[in-house]
Amino acid sequence: MKNIEALKSLYKLLSPCELCPLDCRVKRLKKEVGVCNSGLLMKISNALLYKGEEPPLTYKNGSGAIFFSNCSLKCVYCQNYQFSQLRVGKIISVKELASIILDLERKGAANINFITATHYAPQAMASLQLARVNGLKIPAVWNTVGYEKKEVIELLNEFIDIYLPDLRYVNNEDGVKFSFVENYFDITLEALKLMVKSKPIKFDTLGRLKQGVIVRYLVFPNKLDDLKIALKVLKENFDDEIFISVMTQYVPVYKARNYEELGRSLTKEEITEVKKIVKVAKIKHGWVQYG
Ligand code: SF4
Repeated sequence: MKNIEALKSLYKLLSPCELCPLDCRVKRLKKEVGVCNSGLLMKISNALLYKGEEPPLTYKNGSGAIFFSNCSLKCVYCQNYQFSQLRVGKIISVKELASIILDLERKGAANINFITATHYAPQAMASLQLARVNGLKIPAVWNTVGYEKKEVIELLNEFIDIYLPDLRYVNNEDGVKFSFVENYFDITLEALKLMVKSKPIKFDTLGRLKQGVIVRYLVFPNKLDDLKIALKVLKENFDDEIFISVMTQYVPVYKARNYEELGRSLTKEEITEVKKIVKVAKIKHGWVQYG
Protein backbone atom coordinates (compact mmCIF):
# COMPACT_ATOMS: atom_id res chain seq x y z
CA MET A 1 0.00 0.00 0.00
CA LYS A 2 2.87 2.35 0.83
CA ASN A 3 4.14 2.24 -2.72
CA ILE A 4 0.68 3.02 -4.14
CA GLU A 5 0.62 6.14 -1.95
CA ALA A 6 4.16 6.98 -3.11
CA LEU A 7 3.09 6.59 -6.72
CA LYS A 8 0.15 8.95 -6.20
CA SER A 9 2.49 11.51 -4.61
CA LEU A 10 4.91 11.21 -7.52
CA TYR A 11 2.10 11.82 -10.00
CA LYS A 12 1.06 14.93 -8.00
CA LEU A 13 4.56 16.34 -8.58
CA LEU A 14 4.07 15.99 -12.34
CA SER A 15 1.57 18.79 -12.77
CA PRO A 16 2.55 21.51 -12.07
CA CYS A 17 5.89 19.79 -12.47
CA GLU A 18 8.20 19.90 -9.45
CA LEU A 19 9.96 16.61 -10.12
CA CYS A 20 13.46 18.04 -10.41
CA PRO A 21 15.20 20.99 -8.73
CA LEU A 22 14.42 23.23 -11.71
CA ASP A 23 10.78 23.34 -10.53
CA CYS A 24 9.54 24.77 -13.82
CA ARG A 25 5.92 23.99 -12.83
CA VAL A 26 4.56 23.29 -16.30
CA LYS A 27 1.30 21.33 -16.39
CA ARG A 28 2.48 18.07 -17.87
CA LEU A 29 -0.86 16.35 -17.36
CA LYS A 30 -2.20 19.01 -19.76
CA LYS A 31 0.51 18.16 -22.28
CA GLU A 32 2.73 21.16 -21.47
CA VAL A 33 6.44 20.49 -21.96
CA GLY A 34 9.12 21.47 -19.42
CA VAL A 35 12.75 22.59 -19.62
CA CYS A 36 13.58 18.86 -19.90
CA ASN A 37 11.61 18.73 -23.19
CA SER A 38 9.27 16.19 -21.61
CA GLY A 39 5.50 16.12 -21.49
CA LEU A 40 3.21 13.44 -20.11
CA LEU A 41 4.34 10.41 -22.09
CA MET A 42 7.65 8.65 -21.53
CA LYS A 43 10.19 8.45 -24.31
CA ILE A 44 13.03 5.91 -24.34
CA SER A 45 15.89 5.50 -26.77
CA ASN A 46 16.74 1.88 -25.98
CA ALA A 47 16.28 -1.03 -23.57
CA LEU A 48 18.83 -3.86 -23.54
CA LEU A 49 21.16 -6.07 -21.53
CA TYR A 50 24.17 -3.85 -20.90
CA LYS A 51 27.57 -5.01 -19.66
CA GLY A 52 29.14 -1.54 -19.41
CA GLU A 53 28.05 -0.88 -15.83
CA GLU A 54 30.09 -1.51 -12.70
CA PRO A 55 30.77 -5.20 -11.82
CA PRO A 56 28.18 -5.55 -9.00
CA LEU A 57 25.50 -4.37 -11.43
CA THR A 58 26.48 -6.50 -14.39
CA TYR A 59 27.07 -10.07 -13.14
CA LYS A 60 26.91 -12.63 -15.95
CA ASN A 61 24.34 -11.28 -18.41
CA GLY A 62 24.39 -7.54 -17.86
CA SER A 63 22.18 -4.91 -16.33
CA GLY A 64 18.67 -4.43 -17.77
CA ALA A 65 19.34 -0.91 -18.98
CA ILE A 66 16.55 1.43 -20.03
CA PHE A 67 17.86 4.63 -21.62
CA PHE A 68 15.34 7.44 -21.23
CA SER A 69 15.22 10.31 -23.71
CA ASN A 70 15.54 13.95 -22.60
CA CYS A 71 17.04 15.38 -19.42
CA SER A 72 16.58 18.37 -17.13
CA LEU A 73 20.31 19.12 -17.29
CA LYS A 74 21.83 20.54 -20.46
CA CYS A 75 25.45 19.47 -19.93
CA VAL A 76 27.59 20.79 -22.77
CA TYR A 77 29.68 17.60 -22.82
CA CYS A 78 26.82 15.08 -22.47
CA GLN A 79 28.12 11.66 -23.48
CA ASN A 80 24.54 10.58 -24.36
CA TYR A 81 23.54 13.81 -26.09
CA GLN A 82 21.73 12.17 -29.03
CA PHE A 83 18.88 11.05 -26.82
CA SER A 84 19.34 13.26 -23.74
CA GLN A 85 19.52 16.56 -25.66
CA LEU A 86 18.46 15.90 -29.25
CA ARG A 87 15.26 14.06 -28.24
CA VAL A 88 15.94 10.85 -30.14
CA GLY A 89 13.67 8.04 -28.94
CA LYS A 90 10.20 6.59 -29.09
CA ILE A 91 7.12 7.30 -27.01
CA ILE A 92 6.14 4.42 -24.73
CA SER A 93 3.22 3.73 -22.39
CA VAL A 94 3.44 2.59 -18.76
CA LYS A 95 2.13 -0.84 -19.77
CA GLU A 96 4.60 -1.24 -22.64
CA LEU A 97 7.53 -0.35 -20.38
CA ALA A 98 6.33 -2.88 -17.77
CA SER A 99 6.44 -5.59 -20.48
CA ILE A 100 9.94 -4.53 -21.50
CA ILE A 101 11.06 -4.72 -17.86
CA LEU A 102 9.71 -8.25 -17.48
CA ASP A 103 11.31 -9.22 -20.78
CA LEU A 104 14.71 -7.96 -19.59
CA GLU A 105 14.37 -10.13 -16.48
CA ARG A 106 13.44 -13.17 -18.61
CA LYS A 107 16.60 -12.57 -20.68
CA GLY A 108 18.72 -12.77 -17.51
CA ALA A 109 19.18 -9.13 -16.47
CA ALA A 110 20.76 -8.75 -13.05
CA ASN A 111 18.62 -5.70 -12.31
CA ILE A 112 16.44 -3.06 -13.97
CA ASN A 113 18.48 0.08 -14.53
CA PHE A 114 16.51 3.33 -14.98
CA ILE A 115 19.00 5.60 -16.74
CA THR A 116 18.31 9.33 -16.27
CA ALA A 117 14.60 8.97 -15.62
CA THR A 118 14.06 11.76 -13.06
CA HIS A 119 11.75 13.68 -15.41
CA TYR A 120 9.67 10.50 -15.87
CA ALA A 121 9.83 9.27 -12.26
CA PRO A 122 6.05 8.77 -11.78
CA GLN A 123 5.51 6.95 -15.08
CA ALA A 124 8.69 4.84 -14.74
CA MET A 125 7.79 3.79 -11.18
CA ALA A 126 4.26 2.96 -12.35
CA SER A 127 5.83 0.58 -14.90
CA LEU A 128 8.10 -0.91 -12.25
CA GLN A 129 5.16 -1.39 -9.89
CA LEU A 130 3.14 -3.10 -12.63
CA ALA A 131 6.09 -5.38 -13.40
CA ARG A 132 6.44 -6.20 -9.66
CA VAL A 133 2.75 -7.11 -9.47
CA ASN A 134 3.39 -9.41 -12.43
CA GLY A 135 6.30 -11.18 -10.75
CA LEU A 136 9.45 -9.06 -11.23
CA LYS A 137 12.05 -10.12 -8.64
CA ILE A 138 15.34 -8.43 -9.51
CA PRO A 139 16.51 -5.15 -7.89
CA ALA A 140 15.80 -1.74 -9.39
CA VAL A 141 18.62 0.75 -10.00
CA TRP A 142 18.15 4.55 -10.19
CA ASN A 143 20.93 5.79 -12.45
CA THR A 144 20.96 9.57 -12.08
CA VAL A 145 22.90 12.78 -12.66
CA GLY A 146 22.60 13.24 -8.89
CA TYR A 147 20.67 16.53 -9.14
CA GLU A 148 17.59 15.27 -7.33
CA LYS A 149 15.07 16.67 -4.88
CA LYS A 150 14.99 15.07 -1.45
CA GLU A 151 11.19 14.69 -1.50
CA VAL A 152 11.45 12.75 -4.77
CA ILE A 153 14.12 10.44 -3.32
CA GLU A 154 11.89 9.80 -0.29
CA LEU A 155 9.21 8.57 -2.71
CA LEU A 156 11.63 6.63 -4.93
CA ASN A 157 12.82 4.81 -1.81
CA GLU A 158 9.60 2.80 -1.95
CA PHE A 159 10.63 1.31 -5.31
CA ILE A 160 14.39 1.60 -5.78
CA ASP A 161 17.01 -0.71 -4.28
CA ILE A 162 20.29 0.67 -5.62
CA TYR A 163 21.17 4.31 -6.32
CA LEU A 164 23.78 5.03 -8.98
CA PRO A 165 24.26 8.82 -8.85
CA ASP A 166 26.93 10.96 -10.46
CA LEU A 167 28.84 13.60 -8.59
CA ARG A 168 29.57 15.83 -11.59
CA TYR A 169 31.16 18.88 -9.97
CA VAL A 170 32.71 19.81 -6.67
CA ASN A 171 31.44 23.38 -6.72
CA ASN A 172 28.27 25.16 -7.78
CA GLU A 173 30.04 27.38 -10.32
CA ASP A 174 30.88 24.52 -12.70
CA GLY A 175 27.24 23.41 -12.58
CA VAL A 176 26.22 26.84 -13.86
CA LYS A 177 28.97 26.97 -16.46
CA PHE A 178 28.69 23.47 -17.93
CA SER A 179 25.11 22.34 -17.10
CA PHE A 180 23.22 25.65 -16.67
CA VAL A 181 21.79 24.77 -13.25
CA GLU A 182 22.09 26.55 -9.90
CA ASN A 183 23.48 24.90 -6.76
CA TYR A 184 24.42 21.58 -8.40
CA PHE A 185 26.97 20.66 -5.75
CA ASP A 186 24.83 21.64 -2.74
CA ILE A 187 21.71 19.90 -4.03
CA THR A 188 23.55 16.75 -5.14
CA LEU A 189 25.46 16.36 -1.88
CA GLU A 190 22.21 16.55 0.08
CA ALA A 191 20.63 14.04 -2.32
CA LEU A 192 23.58 11.66 -1.88
CA LYS A 193 23.31 11.90 1.91
CA LEU A 194 19.67 10.85 1.77
CA MET A 195 20.38 8.02 -0.68
CA VAL A 196 23.17 6.63 1.55
CA LYS A 197 21.04 6.92 4.69
CA SER A 198 18.11 5.20 2.94
CA LYS A 199 19.94 2.33 1.24
CA PRO A 200 22.86 0.88 3.23
CA ILE A 201 24.89 -1.70 1.32
CA LYS A 202 23.45 -5.23 1.37
CA PHE A 203 24.40 -8.34 -0.58
CA ASP A 204 22.31 -11.39 -1.34
CA THR A 205 23.31 -14.94 -0.43
CA LEU A 206 25.32 -15.27 -3.67
CA GLY A 207 27.31 -12.14 -2.83
CA ARG A 208 25.52 -9.91 -5.33
CA LEU A 209 24.66 -6.31 -4.48
CA LYS A 210 20.96 -6.06 -3.76
CA GLN A 211 20.91 -2.62 -2.12
CA GLY A 212 23.31 0.31 -1.79
CA VAL A 213 24.79 3.40 -3.39
CA ILE A 214 27.47 3.63 -6.08
CA VAL A 215 28.69 7.19 -6.73
CA ARG A 216 30.25 7.90 -10.12
CA TYR A 217 32.78 10.61 -10.78
CA LEU A 218 33.71 11.38 -14.39
CA VAL A 219 37.18 12.93 -14.50
CA PHE A 220 37.52 15.91 -16.85
CA PRO A 221 40.82 16.84 -18.50
CA ASN A 222 42.65 19.66 -16.70
CA LYS A 223 40.57 19.02 -13.58
CA LEU A 224 42.41 16.37 -11.60
CA ASP A 225 42.41 18.56 -8.50
CA ASP A 226 38.62 18.30 -8.58
CA LEU A 227 38.95 14.51 -8.38
CA LYS A 228 40.99 14.91 -5.18
CA ILE A 229 38.28 17.18 -3.74
CA ALA A 230 35.51 14.78 -4.82
CA LEU A 231 37.18 11.81 -3.14
CA LYS A 232 37.79 13.85 0.01
CA VAL A 233 34.16 15.00 0.13
CA LEU A 234 32.89 11.44 -0.41
CA LYS A 235 35.26 10.01 2.20
CA GLU A 236 34.39 12.68 4.78
CA ASN A 237 30.66 12.29 4.31
CA PHE A 238 30.28 8.58 3.66
CA ASP A 239 33.54 6.91 4.66
CA ASP A 240 33.24 3.32 3.41
CA GLU A 241 29.43 3.20 3.23
CA ILE A 242 29.37 3.62 -0.56
CA PHE A 243 31.05 2.29 -3.70
CA ILE A 244 32.96 4.88 -5.72
CA SER A 245 33.41 4.54 -9.48
CA VAL A 246 36.01 6.87 -11.00
CA MET A 247 35.65 7.15 -14.78
CA THR A 248 38.44 8.26 -17.09
CA GLN A 249 36.75 7.61 -20.44
CA TYR A 250 35.60 11.19 -21.07
CA VAL A 251 35.40 12.19 -24.74
CA PRO A 252 34.73 15.75 -25.92
CA VAL A 253 31.36 15.41 -27.67
CA TYR A 254 28.32 17.61 -28.24
CA LYS A 255 29.30 21.23 -27.37
CA ALA A 256 32.39 20.38 -25.31
CA ARG A 257 34.91 21.67 -27.87
CA ASN A 258 33.53 25.17 -27.33
CA TYR A 259 35.04 25.05 -23.84
CA GLU A 260 38.81 25.12 -23.57
CA GLU A 261 38.87 23.01 -20.37
CA LEU A 262 36.72 20.25 -21.86
CA GLY A 263 38.03 20.10 -25.41
CA ARG A 264 40.01 16.85 -25.27
CA SER A 265 40.13 13.38 -23.67
CA LEU A 266 42.46 12.61 -20.76
CA THR A 267 46.12 12.09 -21.62
CA LYS A 268 48.01 8.92 -20.60
CA GLU A 269 49.83 10.99 -18.00
CA GLU A 270 46.54 12.22 -16.55
CA ILE A 271 45.20 8.67 -16.35
CA THR A 272 48.37 7.59 -14.50
CA GLU A 273 47.84 10.52 -12.14
CA VAL A 274 44.21 9.48 -11.58
CA LYS A 275 45.42 6.02 -10.48
CA LYS A 276 47.81 7.65 -7.99
CA ILE A 277 45.11 9.96 -6.61
CA VAL A 278 42.73 7.04 -6.13
CA LYS A 279 45.42 4.98 -4.43
CA VAL A 280 46.29 7.78 -2.00
CA ALA A 281 42.57 8.26 -1.22
CA LYS A 282 42.40 4.63 0.04
CA ILE A 283 38.93 3.85 -1.30
CA LYS A 284 37.72 0.60 0.22
CA HIS A 285 34.97 -0.23 -2.29
CA GLY A 286 35.35 1.01 -5.83
CA TRP A 287 36.88 1.01 -9.27
CA VAL A 288 38.64 3.12 -11.85
CA GLN A 289 37.11 2.73 -15.34
CA TYR A 290 39.25 3.21 -18.42
CA GLY A 291 36.86 2.98 -21.33
S1 SF4 B 1 11.29 17.40 -14.61
FE1 SF4 B 1 11.22 18.68 -16.47
S2 SF4 B 1 9.21 19.69 -16.40
FE2 SF4 B 1 9.62 18.87 -14.35
S3 SF4 B 1 10.53 20.55 -13.17
FE3 SF4 B 1 12.21 19.36 -14.07
S4 SF4 B 1 12.69 20.35 -16.04
FE4 SF4 B 1 10.65 21.07 -15.38
